[in-house]
Amino acid sequence: MNTQELTMEQAQQVLHKYYGYPDFREGQKRIVASLLEGRDTLGIMPTGGGKSICYQVPAMLLPGMTLVVSPLISLMKDQVDALTTAGIPAAYINSTLTGKEVNDRIRAARRGELKLLYVAPERLELDWFRLEMAELPLACVAVDEAHCVSQWGHDFRTSYLAVSPFVEELPNRPILAAFTATATPEVMEDMTRLLRLRDPGVFVTGLGRDNLAMSVLRGENKKDFVLQYAAAHGHEPGIVYAATRKEVDDLYQRLRSAGFAAGRYHAGMSDEERAESQEAFLYDDIRVMVATNAFGMGIDKSNVRFVIHYNMPKNMEAYVQEAGRAGRDGEPSECILLFSAQDIMTQKFLIEQNPQDSERKANDYRKLQQMIDYCYTTRCLRSAMLDYFGEAHEDKPCGICSSCTDDRELIDITVDAQKIFSCIHRMRERFGIALVASVLKGSRSQKVLQYGFDKLPTHGAMSGRTEKEITEIVNVLISEGYLALSEGQYPVVRLQQPAAEVLRGQREVLQRAARASRTGGSSRD
Ligand code: ADP
Ligand code: ZN
Repeated sequence: MNTQELTMEQAQQVLHKYYGYPDFREGQKRIVASLLEGRDTLGIMPTGGGKSICYQVPAMLLPGMTLVVSPLISLMKDQVDALTTAGIPAAYINSTLTGKEVNDRIRAARRGELKLLYVAPERLELDWFRLEMAELPLACVAVDEAHCVSQWGHDFRTSYLAVSPFVEELPNRPILAAFTATATPEVMEDMTRLLRLRDPGVFVTGLGRDNLAMSVLRGENKKDFVLQYAAAHGHEPGIVYAATRKEVDDLYQRLRSAGFAAGRYHAGMSDEERAESQEAFLYDDIRVMVATNAFGMGIDKSNVRFVIHYNMPKNMEAYVQEAGRAGRDGEPSECILLFSAQDIMTQKFLIEQNPQDSERKANDYRKLQQMIDYCYTTRCLRSAMLDYFGEAHEDKPCGICSSCTDDRELIDITVDAQKIFSCIHRMRERFGIALVASVLKGSRSQKVLQYGFDKLPTHGAMSGRTEKEITEIVNVLISEGYLALSEGQYPVVRLQQPAAEVLRGQREVLQRAARASRTGGSSRD
């Protein structure tokens, strides 16, 4: 037996002894092995995938202490309490402690009594702390939520940039382990570069947990949907994410008055109210939590049965992170995204509101478009998601997402697609979706007349449909790659290669028949 096998055996023993689990999960095994080999490691796992064990188990075996960099001061205590209860010597140092408490813990570290020490990234910038750490045998630095180092990610934190200088300054460089649930190529590249990982083992796992049934529903009456869903599932724990405080308050009131054990959480509430609300949810006193995206980072509740997005999030990273709070225990759970065209306007508005340079803005628009594409795709949603994050997967539909279970017939929309492509071509690919739709509809609006588009042969070519329907078809054609939108606030629709094949009659375009609204209500929201 070689040493690595032996060590994995030891890791297994630590897992039994301290955690009582029979086995590592597949992704954990590879990450633990990589760390035990002494290799820098980048672990990408969905929330709830079991990241903590990936560095905690090696921490017990590696000679010296593991320093855990975590952005969530509020969670450190819980994590450390859980470890100590399990018999693992751990502590945290953060701003909630007195000077004496900090000193005690530093002394314990010096005496070699700690296997794990948790700190926030800001602490790495303090000279005295750096000097203390330089005196210790540090075996490993584990960076949690490592995507925070990247400006491409969705929650960049400057203090994460302190990690690499801190590590490089140590007399003996420890192993560096970085963990996140965010796996876009840009963010992965940034984590490797900005944390200065050396030839890291990179392990992407489990984004598409097969207990999660993903759905995108377009054109629902959202309020009715949530109330009816709660009526059917509201006895189970679930989260409804809404974009604004106002919407959270409104939905919360409706659910309360309909008699549901609903709670709410947003940044407009006091710290105390929020803590109370979160607690009540953790202990199942609140079943349906209505919240903005301020809720959930680091919440360890394994039996969340559904996550409903009342609005489309700004990008796939945010979506997967939030939706991934469902079903951490592996039981069947639902992730439902309620999409309306208004969501696109809202997200564009937010991008415009956000003061940032043009490169980042363009990046935000690109990510938004990928999110929109996900909402319109007729492909298996899980495959679409895994492709987005570059995770290898079988080329096989999941069978449980809203695309896979969609039994509406596929209708041939080749002729409509040809009309749309030809109209865009005649408008010289210089306008947005709205104007294309109104020309096809046959509108005589001032703008249409001003450009002389009423003279185009395609003017009114789809007069039998509403502009909204035309817009929907255009969006489907975008998500299927026939059309593309330019970047920026006022994107222009352009033809892509496959559109040319459709125009030449070499390719047909299929779409699902329109869905009768599940709730029977109007499709406005
Ligand atoms: P993350 O940090 O990735 O969000 P955690 O480390 O908090 O995830 O783990 C999520 C849940 O999965 C926890 O309840 C944890 O105890 C459980 N878990 C982790 N690894 C295993 C395992 N090998 N076997 C069984 N349960 C596990
Ligand atoms: Zn599917």
